Amino acid sequence: MTWICVDCNTPETRDPSTGRSMSEDEVVVDAVCHHCGRPICLKNRYLIADEVFPAPLGTEPTRTYHCKECYQRHHDRVPVVDERTGAVALRR
Ligand SMILES: [Zn+2]
Ligand SMILES: [Zn+2]
Ligand SMILES: [Zn+2]
Repeated sequence: MTWICVDCNTPETRDPSTGRSMSEDEVVVDAVCHHCGRPICLKNRYLIADEVFPAPLGTEPTRTYHCKECYQRHHDRVPVVDERTGAVALRR
């Protein structure tokens, strides 16, 4: 079965048997939105420190993936975590 991103509607380009990308323009759909459970690709997912999970003092809340719709609906003012750099910034 091929995962298709709910946001950009692109099917994953990785070959499920080899794990290698079948296209130059790689699309990786390896996360699901933690509200609606729909698959989202690397480019369209929103990683945030979700305040839904209470964190002990001095530690960060659990980071969860969101689709655009749920991000805007539930966490509109919450900054998004850049997965490569770890930087936190508001994304529109
Ligand atoms: Zn996408
Ligand atoms: Zn969602
Ligand atoms: Zn959430």
